[in-house]
Amino acid sequence: MPGSLHTWYSFSWLDMLAERQSVLSGEIELKRLARLRDMLHADDGSVTAKLRFTKHSGAWVIVELECEATLALRCQRCLEPMLHAVEARVELGLVESASMAARLPEGYEPVVLERERLMPAQLIEDELIVSLPLMPKHARPEECGGLVSQRSEASTKAAWTLDCAPPGKH
Ligand SMILES: [Zn+2]
Repeated sequence: MPGSLHTWYSFSWLDMLAERQSVLSGEIELKRLARLRDMLHADDGSVTAKLRFTKHSGAWVIVELECEATLALRCQRCLEPMLHAVEARVELGLVESASMAARLPEGYEPVVLERERLMPAQLIEDELIVSLPLMPKHARPEECGGLVSQRSEASTKAAWTLDCAPPGKH
């Protein structure tokens, strides 16, 4: 069944997609994702995504979401652009209220639907936002741009101290 990632789906529609084990897939330009766009160094490129709907125990609407994108972030050590590859796969349980979320079977991340509807593009955008590192940095200091070498030794030391912070969630 064809469907768009930019359509609002009601809960009963989502339930039907799950009954039919439907798959929605497509590509979204990053510049169309307003919340994510604000966090990027540049908004060219796109995200490809696939949503596979299934039922759990005949009752719960489950979405297996896969998305893949390369995001341009700003390195916090050298302030120059860096690329952050995202390849995410999550299993989400769509629920109509927080009390239902508490009863969701283990292993699924609950998504409480706002006004009992869902736009897949928003779900994909949320997933990309969650994937962003708290402190984007080039993997190795040698990859950092020329700005670092112009800094005083003291500020370079400060930048190095940040390396001790726990790695961001991927
Ligand atoms: Zn850097």
